[in-house]
Amino acid sequence: MILTDTHLHTSFSSDSRTPMESMVREGIRRGLKTICFTEHYDPDFPEIPAGLDFSLDFDSYYDEYLRMKTLYGDRIEILHGIELGIQPHLSDFLNDFYESQGGRYDFIISSCHLVDRLDPYYPEYFDSLGPEKGLFHYFETLYENLLAFDHYQTAGHLDYAARYIKKPVPEFHYEDYGDILDAILLHLIKKDKALEVNTSGLKAGLAWPNPHMEILKRYHDLGGRRLTIGSDAHQPEHMAYDFHILPDYLRQAGFDRYEIYRKQQPFEILF
Ligand SMILES: [Zn+2]
Ligand SMILES: [Zn+2]
Repeated sequence: MILTDTHLHTSFSSDSRTPMESMVREGIRRGLKTICFTEHYDPDFPEIPAGLDFSLDFDSYYDEYLRMKTLYGDRIEILHGIELGIQPHLSDFLNDFYESQGGRYDFIISSCHLVDRLDPYYPEYFDSLGPEKGLFHYFETLYENLLAFDHYQTAGHLDYAARYIKKPVPEFHYEDYGDILDAILLHLIKKDKALEVNTSGLKAGLAWPNPHMEILKRYHDLGGRRLTIGSDAHQPEHMAYDFHILPDYLRQAGFDRYEIYRKQQPFEILF
């Protein structure tokens, strides 16, 4: 059983309307032991076509987290994280951000939500590139992001773009992206970063939790041992989504443990 969920959004993220307290209460109801809020902060997010700005009111978020800890901290462990949307040109900006307030977070997720300033969520992305080139270019950008900003603990939803490939989704073969994926995974391992297992895509009909089994296996073969686990829920009913499938799925790839981070330090949990 996996009783922690370390990728959660609430109304502090511009794409969620859920009060933090509703998520905390649902976590307790489900018997979760640890939850980590990881609100979106995507600086320089293009206004079009989303109409969302993905800015974050850091202080209000922190205050509400402290209030939740005071109210519910004896029933569930609540951690304070952030999901940073990285873009290669933001290296200096994000390093300054980290210098000024990065230390307050338990857990920082590095996520790639934009490729050439377009979110692959929008059909234009795969319409113009097609599934293989689109995914390949996504990985290229993600690798640039990892080189641009190093203050994070896990790489979020590594094959995020795959969620938005038009059906029928072609079969995924690691070797089609082998060089770029190896570069990404070796970088994570060298830097002692974790790889996130994210179940959010399953809701949308993706046939696998991100990342694909072949990526997880390769990460393990290359020596990667750190995983983090999150549902990426934006509403209470999606917390710990399909987590019951994960122990078998992860064992198949060679894993028997995952990490949670407190004050950006890893703690292993066996499952
Ligand atoms: Zn994300
Ligand atoms: Zn997220």
